[in-house]
Amino acid sequence: MRKEIMTTILFTVFTFFLCFAQTDDSLMIRKISDEILLRGKAMDNLYTLCKTVGTRLSGSAGMYKAEAWGLQVLKEAGADNVYLQQCMVPHWVRGKKEFAGYRTKKRTGDPSFDVLAIGNSVGTGNKGILARVIEVKNFEELNQRKDEVKGKIVFYNYPFNKTLLKGAYGDAVRYRSNGASAAAKYGAVAVIVRSVTGAYDNNPHTGALRYADSLPKIPALAISTRGAEKLSAFIQGTYKNEDLFIRSNCEMLPDTVGHNVIGELKGSEFPDEFITIGGHLDSWDQGEGASDDGTGIVQSIELLRVFKTIGYKPKRTIRIVLFANEENGLRGGTKYAEEAKLKNEKHLMAMESDGGAEYPRGFGCGMTKAQFAKVQGWTKYFEPFDAAKFTFNEGGGGGADIGPLQTNFKTAQFGLSTTGQRYFDMHHAAPDVFEKVNAQELNLCVVVMATMVYLVDNYGL
Ligand SMILES: [Zn+2]
Repeated sequence: MRKEIMTTILFTVFTFFLCFAQTDDSLMIRKISDEILLRGKAMDNLYTLCKTVGTRLSGSAGMYKAEAWGLQVLKEAGADNVYLQQCMVPHWVRGKKEFAGYRTKKRTGDPSFDVLAIGNSVGTGNKGILARVIEVKNFEELNQRKDEVKGKIVFYNYPFNKTLLKGAYGDAVRYRSNGASAAAKYGAVAVIVRSVTGAYDNNPHTGALRYADSLPKIPALAISTRGAEKLSAFIQGTYKNEDLFIRSNCEMLPDTVGHNVIGELKGSEFPDEFITIGGHLDSWDQGEGASDDGTGIVQSIELLRVFKTIGYKPKRTIRIVLFANEENGLRGGTKYAEEAKLKNEKHLMAMESDGGAEYPRGFGCGMTKAQFAKVQGWTKYFEPFDAAKFTFNEGGGGGADIGPLQTNFKTAQFGLSTTGQRYFDMHHAAPDVFEKVNAQELNLCVVVMATMVYLVDNYGL
């Protein structure tokens, strides 16, 4: 009897402590989420980034303005120390507005098309290029018709495959990234690429390309989705036997100096263990770079501000990194991991937000099975936000900028995952503006990010 009583008492005490421990974390998470949802500063910071800094392509005046903005905002958020980490960045300039259209002079009202030079592309120069267009659906068709390509403009009309849901961008972006060199191999003089977007409108979407060193560099233009349909119809109809005129004045200048902007909260127990949270500070030169990746920037800064404001003292050192040059070089992310390796730093985890600020769903987790099992033990803290979907990706990355940390240190990666069905409508194009971002969705993303950072900081991985 006595033994039974003792057991009951012990069990009650144990349960009490278990509940108490859980409640402690739940209370802290509640405190974090209340601060963000009721008094959040992320939206305000996004406004100043979009409206006072604007676009910030590597090497542009906007890039330097953004760096100064980042230093200031990280200081205001309460970082213990704020500094710049220098790296060389590519300096590509767009030049005069691009043109693509028919100029037959045989008819009035020859059509022209909405185009943008693809980033890192060479230009046609002022005299432009006049050539016949050959439309292909994909690389397979290009290879089949390689003998017809010489001296022509290759038009890749590969649609964004919406049945792939979140995979459509990765599937279609090959044509923008590698299409120029693939066509140059068969003697093409330029390429036009259907914009990598699910939107159906007149906005061309830019982005980067990569030239193969062994092949001639030919000009590359992105065309809006409606423009692509129109061009396709004209090629097969009225303008079947006509040349298209294209002109672009973009060029790649010598590399210039850029910076990662870094703010830290010093760890109280393990100051030499690092947790890196970030997004990329650069953007394309269209719209305002609001969702790509202004939101990732302000979310990361907000996470630091919230910890500081509610008086949470992290055990590990939390580093907020506003990465330079993700878009057309990845020099910032590469530099950050290089420096970390030189200093032999210990990197426990890294988190990136670079997919817009739609409703958060969870994280893509690039880590070991054992680490993932630990993360899965925390789902209950994410269920109230309907964001407990953790996807295991063994040894995989969580984002472009934190990828090099994975390569150098096998650092556990967390890529914020959202509903992700609107982001590519505006990505790298004129509609990527502040007004497209929803405050509640933006803030919920921070809640989910901060919750994960809090748990890893406390319990390790
Ligand atoms: Zn981005």
